[in-house]
Amino acid sequence: MKKSMKMQDAFDPYLERMVSQSETSSRRIKAKLSDSYAWCFCEFCEKPTEYSAILEAPKVVKRLQRRNAKVVSQRETIYVAAQERADALVLRYEQACEGKFGPYEAARMLMHYCDIPEMQGDRSVDGFREQIERKMLFAEWARHGEPVWTTRLLGQTDGDAKPSKLYCETHNPRRSDDARRAYQRDRRFILEYHDFIEKIWSQVINAGSHPTWDIESHAHVRREARRQLQALKSPTSMIGDFLTQGTMNQAEIARHLGVSRQAVSAAIRRRAKKSVE
Ligand SMILES: [Zn+2]
Repeated sequence: MKKSMKMQDAFDPYLERMVSQSETSSRRIKAKLSDSYAWCFCEFCEKPTEYSAILEAPKVVKRLQRRNAKVVSQRETIYVAAQERADALVLRYEQACEGKFGPYEAARMLMHYCDIPEMQGDRSVDGFREQIERKMLFAEWARHGEPVWTTRLLGQTDGDAKPSKLYCETHNPRRSDDARRAYQRDRRFILEYHDFIEKIWSQVINAGSHPTWDIESHAHVRREARRQLQALKSPTSMIGDFLTQGTMNQAEIARHLGVSRQAVSAAIRRRAKKSVE
């Protein structure tokens, strides 16, 4: 059976050309993306995945010959035109709130132009303006070219590892040696990490401090879970545990923890210093 594959053009900011990208998501990734909150977070931390970071920052490009392309610069005129459109919409929203266009128009405008969860309950004129300004700027910018997503994030000049839908830049094992080490280190604690997340959710829900519909609460809970996990299982204390057991040498501990051998010997030195004090 032929696999159905969706091809899509994306812009490579370093090669300055358009490339075709195929959508080949596995069942695991589809399941992740269907969760309306968890889809954007790295599996191991509170940072956005590379994929969601790219969706956050579309670009507008002009196609040139032979699939070359360049980013359309955001000229002064674009800013001015965007500001005018935003001002007109804000004025209309203000009048709608006063009931000038009937009882439903303000709500309709909110639904149409704004990201309601992101507004966190703030339906004021200022809140509306904040939402609309960024949108209008992109809309004006897009009139001068073609809106596209990029193939990679800023600063990623290495190979062709595609933006990860599971991990952030510092956890994507294909991104760099450091990221691979971080991935190997944190993969071992994934169950503990999720235990912490659950525990912290039950705390914040009971305290009523962080509403579950707010994406910021999800980031907060993940950040806090990671902090508590790290305090519990910092590599230094784990190295200490292994040394106390006395069954592994430095190189084996380094391999087991996914850290460098130098890190292990540095931890041993710190331990020795502590026991002298
Ligand atoms: Zn991460």
